[in-house]
Amino acid sequence: MLKQDFLNDTIRRSVDSGLFARGKRFEAFLKWWEEMVRYEGEEDEAPDSRHNLRLQILQEIEPVILWAPPLSYSGLATTGRADKDAAMIYLSPMLEFEPMPSVIHTICHEFCHIYLKHHRHIDVDGAKAAVEAGLGHGGTPHELEVESLCTKLGFPKAAKAEGNSYLATIVNAYVKGKGNRARKMLSDTLQLKWE
Ligand SMILES: [Zn+2]
Repeated sequence: MLKQDFLNDTIRRSVDSGLFARGKRFEAFLKWWEEMVRYEGEEDEAPDSRHNLRLQILQEIEPVILWAPPLSYSGLATTGRADKDAAMIYLSPMLEFEPMPSVIHTICHEFCHIYLKHHRHIDVDGAKAAVEAGLGHGGTPHELEVESLCTKLGFPKAAKAEGNSYLATIVNAYVKGKGNRARKMLSDTLQLKWE
């Protein structure tokens, strides 16, 4: 597939599906794309290996539907408007509150999962082993493989900024003074730790 086809397919089908509107996630996707196709080795005769890897991924990756509903939607009943078997990436509305480099990294991370076909071969044993070894979700073989690829592509995971994410800060403010039941429910749902 030509890399331009990938862009058109991904954006057009996602926007048509009604689940990918303008916003930080949209902007971050375009920034990631622009960087992916930016030629870095112009001064050299031969393109550098990072550039080649980026192009290889854009040429080989299957079409993806980006599912990024607005934060204001309480719920949504819709049809997929895509092939039953189409690859999909969910981007949380909470990303609208995260710093741009972190949103771009998340987008790169999810596209790497698709490129590596992790969505087609869920590694149950690897996930189980990571849990047994006391490693979190980030310690599973698929996650390590994805992060390594993100780094090679030039989108390394940003060092965690001081303090909590914007979401955690809001939720921490919200749970102050709430009962334990409300705190436990939110902590289970959002997988956040309380200050
Ligand atoms: Zn992942």
